[in-house]
Amino acid sequence: MELTQSPMSPRQRAYRTQYRERIASWYNGWLHVAVIYTIGLAALFVYVSNIASVAWWEWMTVPVVFLICNIFEWFLHRHVMHRPLRFPGMRAIYTRHTLMHHQFFTESEMRFAGSHDWRVTFFPPYALVTFILMSIPGALLMGWLISPNVGWLVMSTTTGMYLLYEFMHFCCHVEENAFVRHCPFVNTIRRHHTAHHDQSLMMERNMNLTFPVADWLFGTSDLNRGLLGHIFNGYSTTHIKTDMRRTSRTPTGRRDNRPEAGSTRAATA
Ligand SMILES: [Zn+2]
Ligand SMILES: [Zn+2]
Repeated sequence: MELTQSPMSPRQRAYRTQYRERIASWYNGWLHVAVIYTIGLAALFVYVSNIASVAWWEWMTVPVVFLICNIFEWFLHRHVMHRPLRFPGMRAIYTRHTLMHHQFFTESEMRFAGSHDWRVTFFPPYALVTFILMSIPGALLMGWLISPNVGWLVMSTTTGMYLLYEFMHFCCHVEENAFVRHCPFVNTIRRHHTAHHDQSLMMERNMNLTFPVADWLFGTSDLNRGLLGHIFNGYSTTHIKTDMRRTSRTPTGRRDNRPEAGSTRAATA
C-alpha cells in the first residue's frame, strides 16, 4: 500500500494513509484512466472525422489554440487551484489541489505507491466533460466566423491538450524510469513540477503542467533561461534562479511564518 523506501516526512506519510482511508473501496485507478481516455479519444474521433481538406492557414488554429490552452492551464493553476476562492466549485478545486494533492506529494516524495493512488492526480472524468462543454461556444463561433475545419480543430486541440495534461502530470508522479528520464518534454516537466511541489515555492512558481511556455512568458518559472531552454531543459539544474522569494504558508492557505506551521525552510531566502 505504501512505498517501503522513502525519504518522506512522518507528516506526509500520515497524510497519505489518511487520504487512502477516505477513498471508496471500489476505486480502481485503471478504470479511472480508462473512463477519461475513452471519453477523450471518442470525442477526438468525432472531431477528426468532421475535418476534411484542411487549408494550410486552417492548420494555424492548432498553435494558436495550443498557446491559449497553455496560458489557461497556467491561469487555472495559479489563480484557482492555489487560491481559496469563495465560489463553491472553485473552492473544491483548491481543496483537491492545494490541500490534498500538495500534501500527498512533496518534493521529497513525488511517487505514487500504486494505481490506488492515481485518484489524487487524475481529475474526475466530469472535469473533462466540463472542459469539452466550455470549448464548444468558442469552437462554434470560430466555425461560423472562419470555417468549419477551424471550429473542429479548436475542439481537437482543447481536448488533446487536456489529455496531454493528464498524461504529463501522471508522468511527474511515477517512479523514475528510462522513458521519463530521456523523453524530451516529459523530463522537462518532471523537474519543473517537482520544484513546484516544494511547499515554499508552490504558490508562485512553475504553474504549467504540459510545457513551461506560460511560466517563461510571465516570469513565474524557477529557471533563468530562454523559451527553447525552458522547453528542452530536462533534468538540468544549471539555470535555477538563486534569488527566488520563498513563501512559507500552511496548507490552509494562511500566510504563516512560524517554522513549525509552515515549511521547514526559512520564510525568505
Ligand atoms: Zn503534482
Ligand atoms: Zn500546484
